[in-house]
Amino acid sequence: MKTIGMLGGMSWESTLSYYKAVNEGIKAELGGLHSAKICLYSVDFAEIETLQHKGQWDETAMILSQAAQSVEAGGADCLLICTNTMHKVAPQIEAKINIPILHIADATAEQLVADGITKVGLLGTRFTMEQDFYKSRLIDKFDIEVLVPNDEDRSLIHKVIYDELCQGEINTQSRERYIEVVERLSSQGAQAVILGCTEIALLINQHHTNVPLYDTTKIHAEYAVKWAIS
Ligand code: GLU
Repeated sequence: MKTIGMLGGMSWESTLSYYKAVNEGIKAELGGLHSAKICLYSVDFAEIETLQHKGQWDETAMILSQAAQSVEAGGADCLLICTNTMHKVAPQIEAKINIPILHIADATAEQLVADGITKVGLLGTRFTMEQDFYKSRLIDKFDIEVLVPNDEDRSLIHKVIYDELCQGEINTQSRERYIEVVERLSSQGAQAVILGCTEIALLINQHHTNVPLYDTTKIHAEYAVKWAIS
C-alpha cells in the first residue's frame, strides 16, 4: 500500500471527513485491521482564509508548497489537497514537489463521465464557482457543461461555507436554502450537482433531494484509496 499525503485544515472540519473516508475505504478494500497510510499536514485555516479574501494567492501557494514539501519528506507517495478552492494554486504546488497531485476535479469529473452526466451544477466558494481554475478543467478536459448559481445564491453558498460549515455549525435553515439552490440548478437543466466544497456534505446529502449529488470529499478520498492500493 502506498502512503497518501494530505494537505488538510482547510477547514479541519472537512479534513476529519477525509481521514475517516480514506480509512474506511482501505478497510473496505483490504478488511480486518487494515488502515490507511497517511501523512497529513494540517495548516492554520485563518491564515489561508485571510490571504484568499485579500486575493494574495501567491502567498497561499508559498505556504501550501512548503507544507507539501514536508508531506513529501514525510514519506508520502502522492498528495491530496483537501479543498476544492485551493486547487487554484495546484500548479504552483506541483512545481515544488516530486510526487503527483491527485486532482479533486479530475476525480469528480471521471465519476460524472462514468455516470453519463454531461451538464452539471457546481456549488462551492465564490472562488470555485466564479473563477476558471476549476470549471475550465471540467469543461476543457472532460467536456462537461457547468452551471453555477445566480449571484445572490452564490453569496449565500459562500457565506454559509465560511461563517458556518468551516466553523462546525450546521444550520437547518441554511440546509433548506442550499436545497433550494440545488433544485434551481436542476430546473435549469443540471443533471446532477457537484458539492464542490469539502464541507458541503456536512450540511446536505442525498436524503435531502432527488437531484443526484456528487460529494467531492468522498469521491476524492475514494480516488486516493484506489490509487494507494493499485
Ligand atoms: N473546503 C472548502 C473547499 O473545498 C473551502 C475552504 C477553502 O477555502 O479551502 O473549497
